[in-house]
Amino acid sequence: METRFRNLDLLIQTQPMPVEFRNTKAVILCNDCSGKCTVPYHWLALKCIACLSYNTVKLQIVDRNLEAMAAASSGMQDSQPDALGYGNDIGGGGC
Ligand SMILES: [Zn+2]
Repeated sequence: METRFRNLDLLIQTQPMPVEFRNTKAVILCNDCSGKCTVPYHWLALKCIACLSYNTVKLQIVDRNLEAMAAASSGMQDSQPDALGYGNDIGGGGC
């Protein structure tokens, strides 16, 4: 299993996500450490930042580009820390 994870590491390194997805994150639940983290989204696999396992379940996609566009179009930029704080809470609390 560990070898497979490291192979995924290599695959992901050699296949970076397109620029338009660079700001996209995923909220994952790790089956190995039960941690809940926000990690950079990759279509191949999502790695738990706590235990480096790929044995994870994707809970939610967090697209900063979409959030920024939504905030800009509604003119509610002051409320954006809310959205950012949400992501940080998940990353800090779970792992
Ligand atoms: Zn984990």
